[in-house]
Amino acid sequence: MNNDIKEVAKLLVNSKSAIAFTGAGISVESNIPPFRGENGLWNKYDPKYLELNYFHTHPAECWKIIKEIFYDFFGSAKPNAAHIALAELEKMNIIKAVVTQNIDNLHFDAGNKNIFEFHGNSRNLVCLDCGKKYSTEIISEKGMPLCKKCDGVLKPDFIFFGEQIPEPAGSSSFDFAKKSDIVIIIGSTGEVVPASHVPVLAKQSGAKIIEVNISKTNFTSQMTDIFLEGKASEVMTELLKEINLLKNS
Ligand code: NAD
Ligand code: ZN
Repeated sequence: MNNDIKEVAKLLVNSKSAIAFTGAGISVESNIPPFRGENGLWNKYDPKYLELNYFHTHPAECWKIIKEIFYDFFGSAKPNAAHIALAELEKMNIIKAVVTQNIDNLHFDAGNKNIFEFHGNSRNLVCLDCGKKYSTEIISEKGMPLCKKCDGVLKPDFIFFGEQIPEPAGSSSFDFAKKSDIVIIIGSTGEVVPASHVPVLAKQSGAKIIEVNISKTNFTSQMTDIFLEGKASEVMTELLKEINLLKNS
């Protein structure tokens, strides 16, 4: 493991166009549970609350759950050492972009600038009728938030099941993937499509795939070149340390 981290540090220092691809696992140590697996949100909540058709027909019922999961819960989360290491690697010009499936804003809070939010974000709400956007302050204790202009139902600006990937984030993610020479995947099962095509496309274009996860995933046997097993915060802290040693030697 230690030798693998040293090797990855060397590869990253010598890379020209490395990107990170992150999933719910990077935010687990910020106390945001993932959807799948042990302690996954789907063990507690029914995924139907995030289905577009169900939301259209039962908005008030969905908002009760959405508020609980994404606003009461996510609202107070802070970036952990893995997010902070990625921000540091972007400042050092080693990581050129972060493509994230997460909607929790933690890469922004950590200080990354070049972020592609493949599934949108939870910071904004959008009116389903007139398209007006609102910040999360409009969410109150009193039931579901409504548009002040047209009384339409507001929906979080992240994608629900059945929605298209937002643009330009989707196309930009694929463009960066095609040009990348390394993708470091952190905390993603690879079960969500088309997001999982990002590292696949990079691999097909010749990139090396590094994976950080506490357990093996769909990516591991199919395409990962180096698997760094462990918690995102611990592995990324160690990796940043090795990179700093190389840079200063
Ligand atoms: P997932 O929930 O399917 O899987 C999470 C992965 O993280 C698993 O492979 C697990 O082994 C790994 N993991 C758990 N703890 C870890 C840790 N401490 N360090 C490293 N890895 C760890 O996640 P996914 O593949 O990203 O897909 C789920 C979808 O759910 C995404 O599309 C995302 O939009 C959404 N989601 C987002 C958030 C968030 O914004 N934080 C939270 C839950 C779900
Ligand atoms: Zn409206």
